[in-house]
Amino acid sequence: MFRRGLSVLTILLIVLLGCSSFAEEAKNEKSGTVKTKKTAAAAVKKKKTAPAKAGKKVRTARVVAAAPAKPLPVPAQLSEVRHWSTPDYTRVAITLSHDTPYEQHEIARTPGSSLLSRIYFDINGARLAPGVKDLSIGDGLLKTVRAAQYRADTVRVVLDVENIKDYKIFTFSDPFRIIVDVKGERRAEISALAPGIVAAPPAAEPAAGEALRAIQAELQAEMPKEPAVAKAAPRKAMKPGKIRRIVVDPGHGGKDPGAIGLTGLQEKDVVLAIGLTLAKKLKDELGIDAVMTRSTDVFIELQERTAIANQVGADLFVSIHANASLNRSASGIETYYLNLAKTEKAAQLAARENGTSLEKVSLLQAVLFDLMANYKLNDSAHLAEEVQKALYKRLNDRYPPVKNLGVKQGPFYVLVGATMPSILTESAFISNDKEEAKLADPQYLEQIAEGILDGIVAYSSALK
Ligand SMILES: [Zn+2]
Repeated sequence: MFRRGLSVLTILLIVLLGCSSFAEEAKNEKSGTVKTKKTAAAAVKKKKTAPAKAGKKVRTARVVAAAPAKPLPVPAQLSEVRHWSTPDYTRVAITLSHDTPYEQHEIARTPGSSLLSRIYFDINGARLAPGVKDLSIGDGLLKTVRAAQYRADTVRVVLDVENIKDYKIFTFSDPFRIIVDVKGERRAEISALAPGIVAAPPAAEPAAGEALRAIQAELQAEMPKEPAVAKAAPRKAMKPGKIRRIVVDPGHGGKDPGAIGLTGLQEKDVVLAIGLTLAKKLKDELGIDAVMTRSTDVFIELQERTAIANQVGADLFVSIHANASLNRSASGIETYYLNLAKTEKAAQLAARENGTSLEKVSLLQAVLFDLMANYKLNDSAHLAEEVQKALYKRLNDRYPPVKNLGVKQGPFYVLVGATMPSILTESAFISNDKEEAKLADPQYLEQIAEGILDGIVAYSSALK
């Protein structure tokens, strides 16, 4: 009884403390320097820091009485707030157990100023999970990110701004994530890097830096070292210096098997084998630094994959997948880059690779252009063309017949936010029994890696 009384008291205290430390946002709300946007769950918003309309009234939501028979919705649990500092932007990801509406607000430094002091979210129907800690960022763009149970049914997440130019907000599903990408001028240590020098991951970046070091250590451990004397000259002719670092992203992993073939072959295993081979060839044959988003059977969220690529200053991002279709006779190779889906099939594939519904994909499509401000559309299309051409040629020469499905466009989450040319390859249909048999053959997987490598060489050679 006593313990229970104590824990209720603790919760009360936490709520009270939370409210008081968030009092400034409340004060600012009253003073009218705040801009408010109501945002439905899964909608995507872009917000430019245009001069704030001072004095604009904050509208209060009208409370609609629920029908008596309707059960109360289960609160969405806010379980994690993470961030990645990259050379171009800082990404903050807020993870919740399921979709829930949120309101997005910003506070100007002074009324009417275009400079922001805070961005904050009131996430309705949400509970803050125990153990979610405030983040100290201090990377020149953001100071801190704080989360607290603001009201019994509302979690408030505050981003304390140091100096930003622009920000974008979008959401991912399953689990529900609110992603905030902020952009601005960084302090000298990051922005002063001369062009051509590969940006190292920021040293003062413990969480993500550690993850990255772990990835690189894993990669190193898995790559057999060849004796220096026995090392042959690079087999593929490529202009040096154009492409220095490539992030290789084998799709899925861990709890997410990806598509599964009739005999039980799993996409996650196939694409990992291709990715490891490709990374080794990039290093050994081209002397390119290959960084893998995963080099073992682990689950990595989609938003982390591009964040890794941006963080290490990669020149290219290659996501490797195997295709699947309800039509078991579907077969062939296709390569995608990020854009609106032109066909229903492409939208369906994006929904599957995004781990979400077709409906959510069309929501993402509606605002995709806003999210693609820094996206290298033409370069990505060019890289996709070269990789598709080379993959098709190599596989059709050695394992005919192979169908060339061509280069396509689709709204893939994993490519959203990538600041370098980025593609997603679907090198065969695991749902087709003949192609599944090919994907079970390590020699075939090696040829896929060779094909992607040929495409990268062709792309790089065409760079001026
Ligand atoms: Zn996939």
